Amino acid sequence: MSATIIDGKAIAARVRGEVAGEVETFTEQTGRRPGLATVLVGEDPASAVYVGGKQRACAEVGMVPFDRRLGADVPFEEVAEELRSLNADPAVSGVLLQLPLPGHLDGAALTAMIDPDKDVDGLTPVNAGRLALGLEGLRPCTPSGVMELLASVETDLEGAEAVVIGRSNLFGKPMAQLLLGENATVTTCHSRTRNLSAVCKRADVLIAAVGRARIVTREFVKPDAVVIDVGMNRLTPEQAHNKSGLVGDVDFEAAVEVASAITPVPGGVGPMTIAYLLVNTLRAAHMQARAPASR
Ligand code: NAP
Repeated sequence: MSATIIDGKAIAARVRGEVAGEVETFTEQTGRRPGLATVLVGEDPASAVYVGGKQRACAEVGMVPFDRRLGADVPFEEVAEELRSLNADPAVSGVLLQLPLPGHLDGAALTAMIDPDKDVDGLTPVNAGRLALGLEGLRPCTPSGVMELLASVETDLEGAEAVVIGRSNLFGKPMAQLLLGENATVTTCHSRTRNLSAVCKRADVLIAAVGRARIVTREFVKPDAVVIDVGMNRLTPEQAHNKSGLVGDVDFEAAVEVASAITPVPGGVGPMTIAYLLVNTLRAAHMQARAPASR
């Protein structure tokens, strides 16, 4: 039997449509539109493409984009000053510092300067702490998007065995926390995990975020598991056999025969990240509108 293919593109389009509707309601109620500021340092072409996509998506749902660009050799203090000024600007609901930064800048220290209530990437220590403690806060976008994908196929997380491969601050750790928050029994795997395939084979929900093409083979997948592939790996033209060249961490052709539901790459998790950036910006705008006197 072949698994249900989870259509992340369609689900992300639905979420974006919902956000657009809610932006209009918010604007009518408060008299101002949510605003999203992106800060791009340097000229890395991939980062410029990502930032361009975020700016466009923001405008499409009726939010106000603020596009801040700084030179590759900008000193730390200048980036810090830009972040402070965006933190203080009431027209800006969300602030996103595009990573990675040029080598001379401490990305973690700069990220930590973003006002936690404007931290739409959910990566500040305050928001990581709020998530770990189960407190209200802004959650990282990609793991939040994965939760929406799991809901789309009515995955029963209560008491389920969930295995996340990868323990990055960006994805693996917050993903595990979100699953735990839904009462899944969560295992986090990483490069030192012994017997990775046997651990993964226990999973009712298997989530791969490694960054290694097709590391998850058929042997990793329990029959009827829900498989979410976060990996984005570029193949060389020879490896790709004239196809798109973008593959995930899961051997899709093999896993689709075993799983009950699975995300493709591209068109699975990828589109959810920007959709949830918009959700978070709207959420941040609401948080600030509820507590205008506190800042
Ligand atoms: P990362 O920071 O490089 O983390 C990779 C994780 O995989 C680490 O925890 C590492 O373990 C683990 N790992 C590496 N080799 C392994 C192995 N052989 N067996 C088991 N675990 C292994 O990457 P990331 O930022 O989390 O991203 C992971 C992947 O997801 C990348 O392909 C990235 O492009 C993709 N991604 C996609 C989106 C999206 O929007 N679709 C968003 C975020 C990430 P150690 O900790 O022990 O080193």
